[in-house]
Amino acid sequence: MFITIIVPCYNEEAVIEATHTRLSSVCEEQTWDVEYLYINDGSCDQTEQLLDTLAMQDSSVRVLKFSRNFGHQAAVCAGLDHAHGDAAVIIDADLQDPPELIPTMVDMWQKGEGRIIYGKRTSRDGETWFKKWSAGAFYRLIDYLSDTPLPRDTGGFRLVDRKVIEAFKKLPERNKYIRGLFPWLGFKAVPLEYHRDARLAGETKYPLAKMLRLAFNGIFSFSRKPLQMATNLGVFNLVASLLLMVYVFVSYFSKQIESVPGWASTMLVLVFFSGIQLVSLGLLGAYVGRIFEEVKGRPEYVVEEEISCKRVNQIPNTVTLQKSSHQATEQQKLKA
Ligand code: UDP
Ligand code: MG
Repeated sequence: MFITIIVPCYNEEAVIEATHTRLSSVCEEQTWDVEYLYINDGSCDQTEQLLDTLAMQDSSVRVLKFSRNFGHQAAVCAGLDHAHGDAAVIIDADLQDPPELIPTMVDMWQKGEGRIIYGKRTSRDGETWFKKWSAGAFYRLIDYLSDTPLPRDTGGFRLVDRKVIEAFKKLPERNKYIRGLFPWLGFKAVPLEYHRDARLAGETKYPLAKMLRLAFNGIFSFSRKPLQMATNLGVFNLVASLLLMVYVFVSYFSKQIESVPGWASTMLVLVFFSGIQLVSLGLLGAYVGRIFEEVKGRPEYVVEEEISCKRVNQIPNTVTLQKSSHQATEQQKLKA
């Protein structure tokens, strides 16, 4: 049995060594083999050097270096694309999710309890009330909006087996909302409840703007309800404006016109309807924007190089720019 541990890392110099030490102390004692796949998502601190050192010291470490920051979701996708294991465990670099649960996950999977074992947070430490509240509100909102039921209070921490990984890799969309796509794929998924710790060190890499982007990404890729809402709102407005028309006609013919004729009602109608129109346009824009992104067909991420003391792999169907080969072609071009 061979397990890949996927760890996305973005500016994690404060934790990365501790994370690897804890991961390996857990996995060394197991009967299964392990590879650690760290994805350096364009870090601009010492993460790169620290990961290179880990790869040189530990033959079970592989590092994928992105050419720039592509985001957490892209890093996880790269991990799944490049994993060699019979199953993969996705875990954050900051030890908020306890590595000690990995053997339990593998056990549950080996016993055939499910092809996906996902961590479900019963409580979380070290996060602001706003983060907890906004996360709770978001999970409830997306649950209502989504056509696929999505488990609540579930983050990225999970085990997925080879069948799930292969199915996931076949999904053609680029802007992936991973937490939603696994339930959509539909294999048997079993929760494993746990308490989420505080970040070991360093700052969250999910400031409000990124969190909102992830939330909108989730909503717009998993629901057409906002578009239906815009239509419903439009119908409601049509009815409201018809009633308003009746009122205007009645007041005109019964000569009960306001002192400054028509000003208040005109303004009201103008503001109200232009607001509705802008909201609906914005919703359309959100979906059209996503179509635009998909149509461009750009890869989700660009791997600059893969580092490991064992081997350097090139996986087909992903854009992989090996540093050396890239330089070689540049030199050939110069010669020509
Ligand atoms: N991360 C990443 N790329 C990014 C942002 C975050 O690879 O652009 C990684 C980060 O290093 C961590 C995980 O995604 O391993 C989750 O990020 P973080 O812990 O900062 O998020 P939070 O737990 O605060 O939601
Ligand atoms: Mg975290």
